[in-house]
Amino acid sequence: MDENPNPFLISMITLYPEMFPGSLGHSLAGRARDKGLWQLDLVALRDFGEGKHRQVDDTPAGGGAGMVLKPNVLAAAIDHASNVNDTRPRLLMSPRGRLLDQQYIRELAMEPGVVIVCGRFEGVDERVIEKRNLQEVSIGDYVLSGGEPAALALLDAIIRLLPGVMGNSVSGQYESHESGTLEHPHYTRPQSFEGQEIPDILLSGNHQNIDTWRQERSVQITREKRPDLFSKLDEKES
Ligand code: SAH
Repeated sequence: MDENPNPFLISMITLYPEMFPGSLGHSLAGRARDKGLWQLDLVALRDFGEGKHRQVDDTPAGGGAGMVLKPNVLAAAIDHASNVNDTRPRLLMSPRGRLLDQQYIRELAMEPGVVIVCGRFEGVDERVIEKRNLQEVSIGDYVLSGGEPAALALLDAIIRLLPGVMGNSVSGQYESHESGTLEHPHYTRPQSFEGQEIPDILLSGNHQNIDTWRQERSVQITREKRPDLFSKLDEKES
């Protein structure tokens, strides 16, 4: 099955390895894995814990609620996953990180792979971020209970861009966020649904007109739903 000599290599450092590959084992991503286009190296943080109880966390210095992942335990797991010659970016899922967008996803998809650290509890000791050169990545301005669902979202977006994953590569080009706009609306049979018809133009067979209509709708929808993206579009054109 594994025919690809250079799979996109994902090292995942987590307290919950059983959460992976999760959704990535199915559908498009799952088939890509079967084809050997990406590979998952799961690193169980617990294996690097200290003492009889394999402790990975401790109380926050200075007091306060919750627990913090210990820097030495995390560093040992990172060093196990990635040696000094490893050029893959090291990402820490974190609500204070760089906000993910399609541009960032495209950059990451061009790398040989990624090393991902999933935080838990209150987060990780600040020192390991600097010492192991972790880039903090956020999937949005809200707080999850752990980095694992964020990592799954990030990887889903990366994997679909890997060479050989999307059968019809054209379907990627017009999608929301690829050109700075949101995608045009879609319709399929039946032609009439609860009294509403598919727009005539889509049934006309005139592909030039259809293209123009789609572009116009795409811009209109972006203006209505995401004025922030729309204003950036204006800047690009002027
Ligand atoms: N105390 C932290 C939040 C910890 S949430 C703070 O206020 O910043 C626990 C873990 O969930 C984090 O370490 C991180 O790995 C993950 N996480 C939470 N929200 C996230 C987000 N928006 N994007 C990516 N990871 C997130």
